[in-house]
Amino acid sequence: MSVLKITDLAASVDGHEILRGVDLEVGSGEVHALMGPNGSGKSTLSHVLMGRSDYVVTSGSITIDGEELLGLATWERAARGLFLAMQYPVEVPGVKVIDLLRAAAAGGTSTDRRLSEEAARLAVEPEFLSRGVNDGFSGGEKKRMETLQLAVLAPKFAILDEIDSGLDVDALRDVSRRVEAMTEETDLGVLAITHYSRLLTELRPDRVHVLMGGRVVVSGGPELADRLEETGYEGLAADLGVEPTVPGAPSIPADPFADPGF
Ligand code: ADP
Ligand code: MG
Repeated sequence: MSVLKITDLAASVDGHEILRGVDLEVGSGEVHALMGPNGSGKSTLSHVLMGRSDYVVTSGSITIDGEELLGLATWERAARGLFLAMQYPVEVPGVKVIDLLRAAAAGGTSTDRRLSEEAARLAVEPEFLSRGVNDGFSGGEKKRMETLQLAVLAPKFAILDEIDSGLDVDALRDVSRRVEAMTEETDLGVLAITHYSRLLTELRPDRVHVLMGGRVVVSGGPELADRLEETGYEGLAADLGVEPTVPGAPSIPADPFADPGF
């Protein structure tokens, strides 16, 4: 049993405070959904957890089993068991999927075998494994590929940043079932960032949190996602008396990795 613990986390970018004191705790085998409107800081949280260098952490801590991750490089956080499936996966032409995963999973024939098994489970065609990482992949193929990497690397905790965006219903079902199975097979803890409760019908959350204005403003059980379907974020924000987005944040494209291609 491991615990990913985020305490009073505040972070800025270009001098603008985006995260304003986030508290979250995810245990092994648990699924936590993090919902929130556009611009509420969800992707920022995922980048800060993974240690992207242009985000400045101004307070708080991020620990796995009590060990502080702040100050560690991204690869060191990954080695401690943290994995991020990005909202906009980066294309890396020239680096084959199979070579990336051989290197990341310490290589050997067992990696190749696991990779083929997992590819079959996720309905990824074998020829994709010898293509460049995400090179020319469709939105849905990229998300399957993120899930394939997750399954092969078998981390302790996975942050899934809108894994459901760009997926058709079949892909959504394959991806969410695979992640749900990992919570049982390898005791994976999941922080699933999503706008929509659609993802949460297959990937059943134990807890649902709503991020608004850079803070978790309300947490609850799966019924909170249903309530959001009815009220919308504006309605919930009005009920709670909070601002839905980060006040005063720059109105630039929300994610510099944004890929307009899908
Ligand atoms: P969400 O994922 O919830 O839609 P983001 O975390 O992407 O929200 O963005 C939250 C706010 O932070 C937005 O106003 C966005 O413009 C701003 N922001 C995020 N990343 C950057 C960045 N690298 N530079 C400047 N502003 C950023
Ligand atoms: Mg986002």
